[in-house]
Amino acid sequence: MSAAERQPRFAGASDVGRVRSGNEDSLLLAPPLFAVADGLGGHQAGEVASRVAVDTVLANAPRKADSKSLGRAARAANKAVMEAAAAGRGRAGMGTTLTAAMIDGPRIAVAHVGDSRAYLMHRDGSLERITQDHSMVADLVRQGSLTEEESRTHPNRSVITRALGSDPNMNADTFEVTARPGDRLLLATDGLTSLVPDGDIADILSRHPEPQAAVDALIAAARLAGGYDNITSVVVDLAEDEEAAVQKPARNAWLHVALWTLALIAVVALAAGGVYRYATSRAFLVAEDGVVVVYRGVPGTVAGVSLRWRDQSSDVQVTDLSLPEQAALKAGVTTDSLAQAYAMLAAYRVEAAKNAAPPSPVPLTPPGEATGTAPPTQTATGAP
Ligand code: MN
Repeated sequence: MSAAERQPRFAGASDVGRVRSGNEDSLLLAPPLFAVADGLGGHQAGEVASRVAVDTVLANAPRKADSKSLGRAARAANKAVMEAAAAGRGRAGMGTTLTAAMIDGPRIAVAHVGDSRAYLMHRDGSLERITQDHSMVADLVRQGSLTEEESRTHPNRSVITRALGSDPNMNADTFEVTARPGDRLLLATDGLTSLVPDGDIADILSRHPEPQAAVDALIAAARLAGGYDNITSVVVDLAEDEEAAVQKPARNAWLHVALWTLALIAVVALAAGGVYRYATSRAFLVAEDGVVVVYRGVPGTVAGVSLRWRDQSSDVQVTDLSLPEQAALKAGVTTDSLAQAYAMLAAYRVEAAKNAAPPSPVPLTPPGEATGTAPPTQTATGAP
């Protein structure tokens, strides 16, 4: 196998998103070294911080895929971000996340700080998150006080607990993983992962065998889900183990096909039943024809199948809500139950009433029937 054939196929891109005016994310495509960084600080400072971080990691890149050495490069990047701020590049208090990976055959060394992520997509279609977010919501999920789903829409979801640029003694998480043949590495900033659930990321990665097409589709999905943040993703296809493929005895091929087909049928049947039960227990709110509508089920489609049942429309005008709420409702706001969806609808109604233009002297429609429960009244009957 020549060196050229061992070169992994890869692609990466960064997109400003649909809301922010500047892009504070940076990425590094320098095989065998890859990285993403999500800068913080505003006024272009985040952009400086993330750029300084990836440049410094590259300048201090280890010779081989060794996580301790990569961790030292991350510490150098931390120092460089602090020095840049002190020297008037960017501004004081700027910082950045950093998720860097160095690849050597099946070995991947990772250094990680913040809430950007590294994933391994296995050939069987499963997606494994190999980094742990250094964020407030990730801590709450680990403690069990927040679900993964809730963490994606939590108001404090972007509060990170570790970053480059503030603590001179900062240490990165460092580790090595051994990939299996045909695995795919994904590095991404939270502009992707907080808007596109892991299941959808897995789906997109498996539908796009070309790294560039996968990167483009991931960014498109995050934009479609709102694009509130800068979106960066890097996809690296790890070299196939060609020798192993050649040595596989051909006469067992039919047996493999039969066994895999049976396994696949079982998995699909189990998954379909599970997905259906899951979907029927859930609910979501979505903007439709200018008003908030409550559905049972889940927004979008699951494997091309729509699992949603319209429960009730409402009189809550979407334009009476805040812009972030409007954007969230455009994508669909999921809840754990129908009761929770109606509780949210009630909250939206209160807010819409606050934001709505003062009523015209002649109301066009009479106020609706009060369906809420009347305030509890003290009954004094029989009291002394
Ligand atoms: Mn971000």
